[in-house]
Amino acid sequence: MPKTAIVIGAGFAGLSAATHLAHEGFAVTLLEKNDVPGGRARCFEAEGFLFDMGPSWYWMPDIFDQYFARFGKKTSDYYELTRLSPSYSVVFGPADSVDIPADFQALCELFESYEVGSAVRLQKFLAQAKYKYEVGVNEFVQKPSLSITEFLDLRLVVEAFRLDLFQSFHSHVRKFFHHEKLIRLMEFPILFLGAIPQNTPALYSLMNYADMMLGTWYPMGGMFKIVEGMVKLAQEKGVSLKLGHEVQKIEVEGRQAKRVLTNHGTFEADVVVAGADYHHVESQLLEAGARNYSDAYWDERVMAPSCLLYYLGVNKKLKNLRHHNLFFDQDLMAHAIEIYETPKWPTKPLFYASVPSITDPSVAPAGCENLFLLIPVAPGLHDTEEVREKYYHIVMERLEELTNQSIRDAVVFRRTYAHRDFVNDYHAFKGNAYGLANTLRQTALFKPSLKSKKIDNLFYTGQLTVPGPGVPPSLISGQVVAKTIIKQFVTLSK
Ligand SMILES: Cc1cc2nc3c(=O)[nH]c(=O)nc-3n(C[C@H](O)[C@H](O)[C@H](O)COP(=O)(O)OP(=O)(O)OC[C@H]3O[C@@H](n4cnc5c(N)ncnc54)[C@H](O)[C@@H]3O)c2cc1C
Repeated sequence: MPKTAIVIGAGFAGLSAATHLAHEGFAVTLLEKNDVPGGRARCFEAEGFLFDMGPSWYWMPDIFDQYFARFGKKTSDYYELTRLSPSYSVVFGPADSVDIPADFQALCELFESYEVGSAVRLQKFLAQAKYKYEVGVNEFVQKPSLSITEFLDLRLVVEAFRLDLFQSFHSHVRKFFHHEKLIRLMEFPILFLGAIPQNTPALYSLMNYADMMLGTWYPMGGMFKIVEGMVKLAQEKGVSLKLGHEVQKIEVEGRQAKRVLTNHGTFEADVVVAGADYHHVESQLLEAGARNYSDAYWDERVMAPSCLLYYLGVNKKLKNLRHHNLFFDQDLMAHAIEIYETPKWPTKPLFYASVPSITDPSVAPAGCENLFLLIPVAPGLHDTEEVREKYYHIVMERLEELTNQSIRDAVVFRRTYAHRDFVNDYHAFKGNAYGLANTLRQTALFKPSLKSKKIDNLFYTGQLTVPGPGVPPSLISGQVVAKTIIKQFVTLSK
C-alpha cells in the first residue's frame, strides 16, 4: 500500500480528497497556490465588510452532514446553520416579484395562485424528483465512472430511464406546468448546472427537490465557515496544508508520477491527486505524452459559464431585497443563447443579488449592507475594465429601479471579478467559474476521467471531473477519488 499522498489545490474537492486519504492512514501534503484555502469559495475582508467570493447558496445540507459524519463529526461542530425563510425572491419586473416560501404548504398555495391545479402537480413532480435525488445522490454520483461496467447492473439501466436521463428538463417541466412564471421558477436551479434546460437531462429535477424540499441554508459568519470547518477537520486528521505553494510541474518516470515541483521546493509521494483545474494540470503541469486529452478535446468541451461579479459595501440599509434575489426581468433564453450558443457579452443580462448582511450582521459594519452581484456570462470572453464598468451601471440602474431606491451613491467599497481573475487566481480554463456544463454528453463516463490513463498513481478531482460543478458535488468528488485510490492499491497489493 502507498503511504504518502500529495493533493494539489485546497478547494472543496482537494480538501475532501486530502481528508479522506488522511483518514485512511495516508500522510497527506496539500499544496495550494493561494494564501487562502477554499479555491473559488475564498473570502476577503475590506473596510469592515466580509465578502464570500464564490458560492452563496447552501443547498443539499444532507451532503455536508454526511461529509462530516464520515469522520465521526457533526456539521454543527464546525458552523451554525440557519434555514432562510423565504428561501429567495424572484423579481419578474417592476412591482412584480415573489418570495419563495420555505414552508411547503405556503409554496403550494403560491403555485395554485398562478395556475389552478398546479399544487397537486407540484407534489407529483417533487415526488419523482425525490426519487431522482435519492438514487442520483446516493448511487449515480458515487461512481468513479471509469468503466461502463459500473452502470451495467440491470437495476441502474432501468433506473436510467426512470431517472429521465434521456429526456430534456425543458420538456419535462412543461408536462407539469404551463404558467410562464412557474416554468421560470422550476428552470432556475438548472442554470446552476451550466447548460440550458433543453440540453440538461430531466434527471436534474433533483435540483428542484433540493430547492423546494431540502431548503436554502446559510452558515452564520458566511460560506467561508464551511472552508474553515473543512480545513480544521483536515488538520485534525493530520493533513499538512501548505499555502502559497504553487505546483509548477509533475515529474513523471515511466508510468509513475515521481515528484511535484513548486515555487517552494520539491515534494515526493506515492500518489498524486490533482484538485486544481483539470485543463491546467494537463496542459501546464504535465508533458504532452502524459496527458489524457488533446487540445482539440478541451476546445470541444462545453464549459459552464464564467461570472462577472461585484462585491459592494453599501453604507446604508437597503429595502425591497431578500438575502437571495434573482432578477428575471429580462428574457432568460436570450441571455442563455449569449452564454452557450453565440458567446458574447449579454445584451440584457439576468443577474443575481445576494445580501447576506440581511441574515448575518457580522458580514457588514452596523447600519451597512454587504451586496454581492453576479452576472453569468460566456467563458472565454475578452474581459476589460471598460466592460466591467459598463455592466456595473447597467445592472445597478436596474437594481435601483426595480427596488425603488438609490444605491450607487451609498457604495463605499467596490471590487469586481471576472475571467482574468479566474485565470490568474485558479488557472481556470477560459476563465470558467463553474467547471464543465452538465449536459448529457458530459455526464458520468463522458466527463474527463478521474484517473490518468498513462500514469498509474495520478488522479484527478474537482468540478471538471465526476460528478460535476457545485459545492456538494466537489465534496463527493474528493470522496470518490479517495475511494478509487484505496480500491486500486488494495487490489494491487493483494
Ligand atoms: C461565483 C461563483 C458562485 C458559485 N455559487 C455556488 C453556489 O451558490 N452553490 C454551490 O454549490 N456552488 C457554487 N459555485 C460552484 C462551486 O464554488 C465550485 O463548484 C467549487 O467550489 C469547486 O471546487 P473545486 O475544489 O473543484 O475547485 P476550486 O475551488 O477552484 O479549487 C481548486 C484549487 O486549486 C488551486 N490551484 C490551481 N492551480 C494550482 C497549482 N498549480 N498549484 C497549487 N494549487 C493550484 C486553486 O487556487 C484552488 O484553490 C460557485 C462558483 C463561483 C465561482
